[in-house]
Amino acid sequence: MQLQFLGAAETVSGSCFLLSYDSYQVLIDCGMFHGPEEYKQRNYGDFPFIPQEIDAVILTHAHIDHSGLLPKLVKHGYKGPIYGTGATADLCSIMLPDSAYIQESEVERKNRKLRRQGKKLLTPIYTVDDAEQTLTRFRRMIYDEEIKILPGLRLRMRDAGHILGAAIVELWVTSGGRTTKIVFSGDIGNLNQPIVQDPTYISEADIVVVESTYGMRHHEGREQRFQRLAQVVNETMERGGNLLIPAFALGRTQDLLYALRILQDKGEVPPLNVYIDSPLAVSATEIFRKHTPVFDWETRTMLREGRSPFEFDGLHYTQSVEESIALNSIHSGAVIVSASGMADAGRIKHHLKHNLWRKEAAVLLIGYQAIGTLGRRLQDGAREVRIHGEPVQVNASIHTITGFSAHGDQAALLTWLKRFRHIGQIFVVHGEAEDAHQFAQLVHSELNVPTVVPKLDEIFHLTGGRIYSVWEERFHNLHIDEDFSGVVQVWKEGQILFRGSYGFANRRYEVKNTMDTSFNLGSGREIFAAVGLCQLAEKGRISWERVRELLEDENRNVGLLEQEIEAITEQAYACYIEEEIFAHAQMERSGYYTLDRLPPEAAVGYTVDDQGQIMENVYAILNQDTGLQAYSTVHDLGRFWEALFTQKLLTQSSLEVLLAQYSQTLPSQRYYEMRGEGPGVSLISGVVPEKQLTITVLSNGEKATKSVYDQLLKITLS
Ligand SMILES: [Zn+2]
Ligand SMILES: [Zn+2]
Repeated sequence: MQLQFLGAAETVSGSCFLLSYDSYQVLIDCGMFHGPEEYKQRNYGDFPFIPQEIDAVILTHAHIDHSGLLPKLVKHGYKGPIYGTGATADLCSIMLPDSAYIQESEVERKNRKLRRQGKKLLTPIYTVDDAEQTLTRFRRMIYDEEIKILPGLRLRMRDAGHILGAAIVELWVTSGGRTTKIVFSGDIGNLNQPIVQDPTYISEADIVVVESTYGMRHHEGREQRFQRLAQVVNETMERGGNLLIPAFALGRTQDLLYALRILQDKGEVPPLNVYIDSPLAVSATEIFRKHTPVFDWETRTMLREGRSPFEFDGLHYTQSVEESIALNSIHSGAVIVSASGMADAGRIKHHLKHNLWRKEAAVLLIGYQAIGTLGRRLQDGAREVRIHGEPVQVNASIHTITGFSAHGDQAALLTWLKRFRHIGQIFVVHGEAEDAHQFAQLVHSELNVPTVVPKLDEIFHLTGGRIYSVWEERFHNLHIDEDFSGVVQVWKEGQILFRGSYGFANRRYEVKNTMDTSFNLGSGREIFAAVGLCQLAEKGRISWERVRELLEDENRNVGLLEQEIEAITEQAYACYIEEEIFAHAQMERSGYYTLDRLPPEAAVGYTVDDQGQIMENVYAILNQDTGLQAYSTVHDLGRFWEALFTQKLLTQSSLEVLLAQYSQTLPSQRYYEMRGEGPGVSLISGVVPEKQLTITVLSNGEKATKSVYDQLLKITLS
């Protein structure tokens, strides 16, 4: 069983974890990245897995940093279910189409510019249509219900107390007769937060994946935070300015309304003119009204008494753009709540542009402000900011109240962790790098449980109580040449120590190489013919002398060996090898093909011509060798070696004859290697049987294969 961290690793956004066990693959969240460009780039391009091969998706909650790439997943072929609570499904029904609409309009705006410049146009990550498709895949769960979603996988969702419908995910994974319990915290709510319940405490887990957004911070208490809010509101109103509050449409806006209602009811602030300027917040509030049964006791009581936080005199919801623009003419006395919560998109930017320069105005930041956002720059005290390309003076007063966060602070997170009776291992995610590492240290010292901050894309094996990263330190220094195109994999004792895919399988159509791409083995296919001949000698159909003579010939060539098989079996050699070797070794993606009839997942070989131009090798090979080419994948070559050394293909004594030809010198261990070359083909696959170690480098180019291979060999044997 393994767990890969595809997002929210040393950063707060892009939550996405890939759990693989037996033949199943499950995603926990599929969120969008925000913040710095290097992360945002990951929203584009291919997923690091094949969407069709994912068996199930589990969604912790509706926030875009957890759900935002689900429509992309569906667009790229995901056909399975998405498990989430009913409230999460409802909230996604407004969040995802809204996100798609933002993608589409953003791309449309950029394309207008690109079109004028005669440049290549962009396509949106996904469209409203893809988002609508995604909604049909939801399977609604209720809190605390336990269901089996796949063979060997049980799921339960518990109230995370973060936003409406947010869940902590409990998973029981049974593989090889052993059950491992994994808990994903999702986003953990704040204690005593309005509207939603407090987070559920869980009693035990082998593995906990916990968020750390506010792992190094302390929130103001509820009384303090309400007082501060009253103070900011009163001061701004007395000065005669507007109060702008950037807020997530979902959760934060409703929490704020709740607080404003209570302050007005108690007379701690005057009756207010509050504008909720976000169509999304309006729809989200509708959904809140529908899910009152999951509210906390206090909010249910308020509703019973007819004091709805979502409706009061002076509360205005603005939908249309015209209504939003009309707010620009109000210079005083308005509380404007608008998205986005970090002020880096949406209508709030217009309101900031019209108010930031006024010294009587105020901005109140109540949510998390990620590095690189406009909200963060204001929080950090910028005197001038750029909005829509225009410089704007910051004369308004800027305030921050942290307690409104939907995330638990250090105390809340530690309490949640300490309520477990047993935890075997903790992974700290969903925090800025520095916070995550400091929080991990704190957790380790307080709980004395092994605690790791995973890196982006890092893979961990979770087998038999022993948990280790496949990215051991020593692989971090591996240098992969930019020209290298192909895949690499290091196997040890049935576990992957390192894997990676680089470059293009097809440059013309920009198809990237993946771990499942099949590669031409060129002259490397010789070893299959050699195994075939040894098998025939075992059956007495050819003499061992003749086999030795063929194999030991300095000038042997693969064609000669293949002809010999055809002469003996009176059958095409390709059919013989496919039946007697590939089938026995379960090399399901290996076969012989002519270059004009390649399977779709095969890589095109590339070679460099006299002018240094890269060209497809088809023509080069057609001139020299019109016969069949063997294609295989990195997994299949691993299976080949395994079958060979477990005597599934040859007896021990014939194996010795064969291996004598593939033996290479390495200090103090037996080591065997196959190599293949050809135009647009280069590969090395080696095995150290005593260590159950296989290293394979397959390339559809001719560069750097040896350098990559030599480094891997050196690293693994050191
Ligand atoms: Zn969240
Ligand atoms: Zn989150």
